[in-house]
This record gives sequence, C-alpha cells and structure tokens, in this order.
Amino acid sequence: MELIIIVVLGMIAASFIETLAYRTQRGISIVTPPSFCDHCHTKLKFYEKIPVLSWIILRGKCRYCGNRIPVKYIINELFLPVIYVLLYIKYKNLYEIALYAYLVTVMAYLSLLDIDIGTISMYDIAALYIGSAVNTVLSFTGHLTFVPKHYFFGLISGITIVMVSFLIVYAIKKRIPMGAGDLLIIPAFSLFFGYREVITIMIVSATAGIFAGIFLMITGIVKREHKFPMIPYLTFGIVVQLILL
Ligand SMILES: [Zn+2]
Repeated sequence: MELIIIVVLGMIAASFIETLAYRTQRGISIVTPPSFCDHCHTKLKFYEKIPVLSWIILRGKCRYCGNRIPVKYIINELFLPVIYVLLYIKYKNLYEIALYAYLVTVMAYLSLLDIDIGTISMYDIAALYIGSAVNTVLSFTGHLTFVPKHYFFGLISGITIVMVSFLIVYAIKKRIPMGAGDLLIIPAFSLFFGYREVITIMIVSATAGIFAGIFLMITGIVKREHKFPMIPYLTFGIVVQLILL
C-alpha cells in the first residue's frame, strides 16, 4: 500500500514539473488554462492526462491532431516514481527520503528546462537552495544520519569544483564561460552530500556526459555548435550516488 502511494506521488510530481517546465518558459500561468496538447492546443480530458497510462492508451500520440507526445515526458513520468520507490527502499530515515526525493525532482525539472531552452533562471536554482537549506537545518537538529560538518565538507568540495572548472574554461577561452550560471547548481546540491559523494557525482556525471556527447555527435542527433545540456548528466550522477552507492 505504501509503495502504491509513493508511485502515485512520483507520478504527480512528474506531471507537475512537466507542466511547470512547459509553462514557465512560455510565460503561461500554472493554474489556467487546464492541460492542453502542445501542438493543436485542444483541452485534454482528465483521462488523457494521467501520467504513463494515458501515454500507453493514446499510443504516444495526441487523439485530436496525431502529434507525437515527446519521449522526454514519458521518461520523466517513469523515472520519478521508480526513483521514489528505490529511495524509499534504500533509506530508513523519512527526512532523508523526502529530501532526496525533492532533490531528484528539482533536478529532473531543471533537466527538462536545460533540454528545452538551455538556460535556467536564478529562481529555478533557488528551489535547490531551499532544499539544501532544509537539509542543513535538519542536520543541525540531529534528524539526519550525518552531522553538519559532513555536509559542510560537501559544500566546500562543490565550490572548489565550480571554481576550478570555471578557471580552466576561462584560461582556455579567455572569457566567462557560456552557461556559467548553471555551475551554481553544483554547490546547491553539494549541501545534500559529503565531499566523497560530491566527487563521485562529478566523476559519474562527467563520464556519462562525455560518452553520451560522443554518441550523440557520431549519430548526428546533436550538432557540435549546440550547447550541450549538462544538467541531465548531473541528475544521472546524483541518482547513481543516491541509489547504487
Ligand atoms: Zn494535439
């Protein structure tokens, strides 16, 4: 029963961040109008917007115009519930489960924005800092596995990684690197971890990013000039650290 609730929560969170990502980049209110097809703008009935299930029933297409529903949505709708369940199974501390679920949800939201428009605003990153602030408070009150020092070292290593990578790019390109604002994400999630975890996340993300980048370029799915979205790989690194290590 608990697992069903968690799966449903994951689906609700997934469809919420999809709506949020789609609407904030177009300046549409989150509340009105109700959900519509991206392509023909037909208002959707309730059974056409159930995460995952609707996609299967509709065979991945809009019923009205036949437009394909982007694959990233179905990946997101499967991804979050699965991660929520795995977090619930792995961690015993409810505060940690909630914090990590929040972290992964915000990272998934930022990934959607990064894939769509390649930029994220300070407001979007602020959602991560709110989570890490709560994490810090709970470590001070003794509700988490580790003491504040553990997370403090995580933050220090996150900041160091940002500064070093910033300087390397600056030294090579002689100008402030494009997408430097994205780097602010790293200290934000570093506060959820210790320094070992932060370093592991960076190594896993970089490796995944390099392999995926080579693959996408060879297959011609992305062109060299395109800004490479970094956040999905950071999310991947965080998930590997949280679930597998
Ligand atoms: Zn449509």
